[in-house]
Parts: sequence; C-alpha cells; structure tokens
Amino acid sequence: MTNTTSQDRQHGEEQTFEPSAEFAAQANATAALYDEAAADRLGFWAEQARELISWDTDFTDTLDWSDPPFARWFVGGKLNVAYNCVDRHVEAGHGDRVAIHFEGEPGDTRTITYADLQREVSRAANALAALGVVQGDRVAIYLPMIPEAVISMLACARLGAAHSVVFGGFSSDALRSRILDVQAKVVITADGGYRRGKPSALKPAVDEALAGGDTPVEKVLVVERTGEDVAFDAERDLHWAEALAAQPDTHEYESFDSENPLFVLYTSGTTGKPKGILHTSGGYITQNAFAMRTVFDIKPETDVFWCTADVGWVTGHSYVAYGPLAAGATQVMYEGTPDTPHRGRWWEIVAKHGVTILYAAPTAIRTAMKWGDEIPAEHDLSSLRLLGSVGEPINPEAWMWYRRVIGGDRCPIVDTWWQTETGAHMIAPLPGVIATKPGSSQRALPGISVAVVDDTGEPVERNVAGYLVITEPWPAMLRGIYGDPERFKDTYWSRFENMYFAGDGARYDDDGDIWFLGRVDDVMNVSGHRLSTAEIESALVSHEAVAEAAVVGAQDETSGQAVVAFVILRGGEEQTEGTVEELRAHVGREIGPIAKPKRVHIVEELPKTRSGKIMRRLLKDVADNRLVGDATTLADSSVMDVISASVAGEK
Ligand code: ATP
Ligand code: MG
Repeated sequence: MTNTTSQDRQHGEEQTFEPSAEFAAQANATAALYDEAAADRLGFWAEQARELISWDTDFTDTLDWSDPPFARWFVGGKLNVAYNCVDRHVEAGHGDRVAIHFEGEPGDTRTITYADLQREVSRAANALAALGVVQGDRVAIYLPMIPEAVISMLACARLGAAHSVVFGGFSSDALRSRILDVQAKVVITADGGYRRGKPSALKPAVDEALAGGDTPVEKVLVVERTGEDVAFDAERDLHWAEALAAQPDTHEYESFDSENPLFVLYTSGTTGKPKGILHTSGGYITQNAFAMRTVFDIKPETDVFWCTADVGWVTGHSYVAYGPLAAGATQVMYEGTPDTPHRGRWWEIVAKHGVTILYAAPTAIRTAMKWGDEIPAEHDLSSLRLLGSVGEPINPEAWMWYRRVIGGDRCPIVDTWWQTETGAHMIAPLPGVIATKPGSSQRALPGISVAVVDDTGEPVERNVAGYLVITEPWPAMLRGIYGDPERFKDTYWSRFENMYFAGDGARYDDDGDIWFLGRVDDVMNVSGHRLSTAEIESALVSHEAVAEAAVVGAQDETSGQAVVAFVILRGGEEQTEGTVEELRAHVGREIGPIAKPKRVHIVEELPKTRSGKIMRRLLKDVADNRLVGDATTLADSSVMDVISASVAGEK
C-alpha cells in the first residue's frame, strides 16, 4: 500500500485527553513498564508470569522460539488454569467475594461467589471426568450467556481438556463442522436461552448436528435454562443438574504443562472461512492477567467489571471467562440483547451493579448513539471510571459520544486492538499513563512489538498506509490453526519473513500513534489511489445525519474501483432528495474529492457477523451485482435480501 489521502484528514487527531490527576494517581500501570519491557522483553514477561500466576512447577525458560512460527512459552512450567481463576482466590480468603453477578434476559438473577464457583467447577469437572473426559480431549460448548458457560470452560481447563465454544446463535451446520474439526467427545448445551424476550432453542441444533451418529461425540450434557420441551436421547443425553448433583463439590486438580492446549476457537469469519485457532495455557493466562491489571486497571476489591461480549467470541474467552477471574475480580454477565425489554437495559444494569469498568464493541456504541442521548441519561452511570472498545476501529465520532454520554467526560477510553489469534490485548493506550486520542488504538502494550510496514516489510513513514505486523512472539499468541500447520504458516507467516501478518491496514500519525484503516482485503484502489474503508466510514459517521456506514470498492471500468457507501441514518433523520449528494460532498470536504463515494445507498441495516462486525465482502457482492457469498456467520441472514432488494429498487 502506498499513500492514502489520510494526511489531508485530521479528524479528531489534534485532540487528546490527558487522564485526570485522580485517575493517574491510582492507576496500576506506570510509564516505567514501557522502559522495563524494552530493556529486557523476555525478562519482563517472566516477571509478569511469576507475579500474576501461581505455578505448581516454575518454568526454566521463558521462550523457546527454536522452531518458528511454533512458540513455547514458560517452558517446563506447570500450572492449572482453573485453579488460577478460582481456588487460589478462595485460599486467599476471598471466597465470599462475588465472582459473577448474572442478569438473565427475562429478569432472573444469580449471585455467584468465588466459593460457589469453586464448588460448581469442581462438580462439573467431576461430572466430565465421569463421562471419560481426560487431559488432551476436546469438549464442545454450545450455550447461551449463562454462568454454566464459564463453569464448563473452567471445568475443562481443570481437567486439562480443551474446549471449543461455538456461539449459541450458530446453526447446526456450523456446530457440526466445528465438532468434526476438533473431534469433540462431549457436547455441553442447554435446552435454550432467552433472546429478544423469547426462549430460543439450542438443543434441537445439537440433535441435528449429531444426527447420523457419525461424529466422535459420546455424551451430551444439557443445562435446563428455559424449561421448554426438548427431545432427549436416553443413551446419549444427560441432565446437567442431575450429573452435577451426583458428584462431590471438591475436586483434586492436576497441574499441566504450560503448553497444554486450553481451547480451540474459530475466528469470526468476517473475511472468509473461520479458522480454528489453538491457544495453550501459561502464556495465554499470563498475558490476560497482565491486560486486566494494566489495560483495565483492575482493582479486584472494589471494581465491578463488565465485558458485554458473548463467550462465543475471543473477547468473551479472555475478558469474561479467564481474565477477570484470573484477576479475582467481580463481574457482570448478561444473557440478552441491549434492547430487551427496553433500550436502556445496559444502562440499567450498570446502575444496578455499580459497574466501574465497561468493555463493549463500536457497533453497540453506535447503536446506542443512534437511539439517542436521552436513554442513557435516564440512568445513573456515575459508578463508571474506565471504558473500553473492541472489535472494529471506533470512529472518532462514536468515541467522543462514548466518552461524553456514557463516561461523563471523566473516564479514560481504552481502544484495544487484538484478534482471536493474539489471544489478548496487543495495542491500546495504558490508562492513567497515555493521553487518549479519539479513534486511535495508539501504541503497542509493554512487552509487545509491532510495526506498520510496506510491501517489502520496511516500516512506513508517518501518515502512510501499510500493514500491521507483530515483530516478536508474544505469550498469548496462537500456537497454530487446529490440525493445519500449513495453513497456519501460509496465513500469518508467509507474507513477510519473521513477522506475523495480522491482515489489518494501519498507519502512524504525526505523534507515531497507530490508526487502523480496515482489513487489508478491503482496501480500495481508485484511479491508483489507495483508500481506506475505515477513514471514509468515519467521515460519513461524522455527518450529523449518519448513524452507521460501510464502504466497499466496486468494480469500475474507468477508475478500476469506485467507492460505494451503504449508510444508516440516525433516529429521526429522514432521507430527502439532497441527502445522498450532501453525504458525497461531506466526504469530499473531510478527506478529498478522490474519496467521494460514487454511489451512496441509504439502508435500514448493515450485514454484521454475530460478533457485530460489518461484513463488507457481502456488500461488495451487492455492489458488483454478484450472487451474495457465504453468509453463514451473519447475525441475520435476511438483512442481505433486504439490502439487495433496496439497491435493486434504486436502479
Ligand atoms: P476472520 O479472521 O475469520 O475474518 P475476524 O478477523 O473478524 O474474522 P476476530 O479475531 O474476532 O475475527 O477479529 C479480529 C479483527 O477485529 C482484527 O483483525 C481487526 O480487524 C478487528 N479489530 C479488533 N479490535 C479492533 C480495534 N480496537 N480497532 C480496529 N480493529 C479492531
Ligand atoms: Mg481475522
């Protein structure tokens, strides 16, 4: 990639927000962490591992990188990840501390202390062991956002078996292909969960996935959540409650090698077929405990942490299941959608539990912005002290709204860049240390080495678009694509020598801060100019009439590619005759004439993955008049029909 027009565009870049003296004074992170890590990167990680994690056998080497790209971290070390997330907090006298405040969508609640969690995880581990699950096995988890999801994950970790969580909204086909890919022995599911005010069944999809009996699955554990009637196979299926009740509530854990597999998780499928990403134990839990301490500034005695992600995504693995519990923190877990039964549900939960740290995705923030300021204004959000964003580039406009309306102009925002593959936060401002900047993830965390490089792998100049790479191995890095070492090498390690290729476009600004420009696959080439989807989308969202925007490059005879925009208007905005022209002109003013969309389609919805990311490749199919491609990880598959019809109607 060469020059973009981004240097013409200083959207929000002049503005930075210094942390308040009050926040800085109490922050866990210090500027010295950067220097320490730079002076001795491996020594730094060894120290974090020993300080944050309890090892049953100390490691002898910090990193074995003798066979790249296959890394081994904390070599020779032995630990139990579930012990680190549960038992050690009870042993330290915090058994009465709440681990999980659960909010069911219909309004039911549960309060689970660390002592409760220890008993539940022990029973679940005993139950799985009784079904024959041993170290090295794989267990598929297909559950709604209920505490049993976290309990199941920890029970697997306790036994040294790897889990593979499949998002509860996925179809039986998606579940089946993942069960086969990891060769799961047991499936843990529920009769159903609650979604948009109604029970939504899960068990039938498991039955369908296993029909034919040609999978390695021997047993299915079924949690009763909705109480709806579901088919039961007397040979194969067991009730979770009965299976657990039959077991003692203590369990003697074993310690496992630092590199023992912890889980396999499939990527979101935003850019293509999902990849089964393998993570192991010691490095993953160390880097996430570090992120909790420094990026989320966690104070386990006083904070109430809430990550809104589903456990079906990596964000739910690292910042619902493992990170907060490794830190011994109290967290909120919510089952349902943000607008059930009303659009203030999230803010009501923040007020009810006095949430102090909130971690959400830009798509949710833009949606809340679209619904209007008056909704959060009805709730007391004064407990919040830190906000986080993850999943997509956050537009400066949405960032500013989040800061002002949700954070009361007082909370630092950490825009965390990372991937399923990276396992933990990689690029984010350290709160209390770095002055934050709307729309930028800013800089690599201490102990993490990244660069933005050109086609030849050389670092780019400031304000020039390039590729984000990771230049040194990191503790929570993926250990491979499950069962496919060649695809692992091809996908991440073949584009540049000795560097991990993330697939995201990025640039440095004048201060050397990193801005994400969108997926490398999505970069547009208009008359020889490289344009970034993220920047044009941000320009559109900065217009007062626009709530959300997605931009793609469509084939064009004259310019090679033409910019085509799909735009959702804000609540209360009506499309008039001049709207499209006005939006085109606005992009022209914000970025430059070359970036002006050739076409702007006003739509009601955008196609999003279940994890809330815009699937631009499907919009590109529409813009190119092609048959719409694989949409199996789409949240709502009818969205594409509506968009296709509305675009066809304009012609
Ligand atoms: P697939 O790899 O199957 O296409 P995916 O990349 O969407 O799916 P994830 O691992 O869930 O799967 O998402 C990681 C990607 O999300 C990153 O590569 C990046 O594009 C985007 N992302 C995450 N956080 C941020 C952020 N803070 N700023 C910008 N982009 C982000
Ligand atoms: Mg990806």
